[in-house]
Amino acid sequence: MHAERYREGRILVAGDAAHKHPPTSGLGLNSGIGDAHNLCWKLAAVLRGWADIDLLDSYEAERLPVAQENIDWAMMTFRAHAILPAAVGLVAGDQEKNRQVLTDLFADGRRGAVRRSLVAEATTSLRREFQAHDLDLGLVYDAGAVHADGTQAPPRDPAGLEYVSSTRPGHRLPHAWLLDGAAKISTLDLLRPGRMLLIVDVDGQAWAEAAAKVAEQRGVPLDVVTLGRRTSLRPVGDQWHDVRGVGDVGAILVRPDGHVAFRPPPESTIPSMPSRPRSPR
Ligand SMILES: Cc1cc2nc3c(=O)[nH]c(=O)nc-3n(C[C@H](O)[C@H](O)[C@H](O)COP(=O)(O)OP(=O)(O)OC[C@H]3O[C@@H](n4cnc5c(N)ncnc54)[C@H](O)[C@@H]3O)c2cc1C
Repeated sequence: MHAERYREGRILVAGDAAHKHPPTSGLGLNSGIGDAHNLCWKLAAVLRGWADIDLLDSYEAERLPVAQENIDWAMMTFRAHAILPAAVGLVAGDQEKNRQVLTDLFADGRRGAVRRSLVAEATTSLRREFQAHDLDLGLVYDAGAVHADGTQAPPRDPAGLEYVSSTRPGHRLPHAWLLDGAAKISTLDLLRPGRMLLIVDVDGQAWAEAAAKVAEQRGVPLDVVTLGRRTSLRPVGDQWHDVRGVGDVGAILVRPDGHVAFRPPPESTIPSMPSRPRSPR
């Protein structure tokens, strides 16, 4: 179950107070930390005056669908557990039969081997619970504080096992190894608490200048990082170029919680920035 609303005026709910489900798949605390991670930078932005209070409404728009997906997954994996006692051959309430079944399971010879192969197969099918990387990392915010670029999301693995990273707005910034001098760091290390991050290549300096100007005007804490094959901060191998999803003149704007807020559609030029008055807090 989950709360119908995540925000009522000054009250915001997070964690098990907002959603609960069985512990199967281990998504409960993950979701709670995800809520806090999503919310805390927004609260800071509103309190520090660089975002309108409406930004807080994006919390529910982004996190409630994640809670719903996690609830569905936890219930599905909870029910899938029934396959295990069935594979072992256990019968509810029949102690004598169950004792025999367990003796068989550990016995030498064909009977035990057959039973163990069945249990092994059933356990493998439970990998949707224990190896669901896409559930842990593949969450996407389709609505909320993101600016869609009109592209399609990469197809998601129905088994939830494979996480496909993307810089499409709403997705988590993909990890790729970088060399910062002699130090090996991750693209994720470029994020600093409470600060927006703009990643450009050397040919994307116009984006860097435009973003820095707007950030200064509106008081947005922004770090600009130039990253490419010709920069001092260097990607290791092709990993970054394989996932970055924008060309040399592109840019990727990342929120403090590591989700991509904006990237220009391919071939786009710098749009003129509308002057938007700040609404009172
Ligand atoms: C058996 C089991 C296994 C689990 N395994 C996993 C796992 O592997 N991975 C995972 O991610 N999650 C797991 N979970 C889920 C996880 O434990 C919860 O989702 C998580 O603890 C929720 O955190 P929370 O801070 O939202 O709530 P809570 O941990 O419930 O914290 C709320 C706190 O508020 C306090 N409180 C309540 N009312 C008041 C009040 N009026 N005034 C002051 N304080 C108050 C409570 O005492 C409590 O300390 C598991 C849960 C169970 C039961």
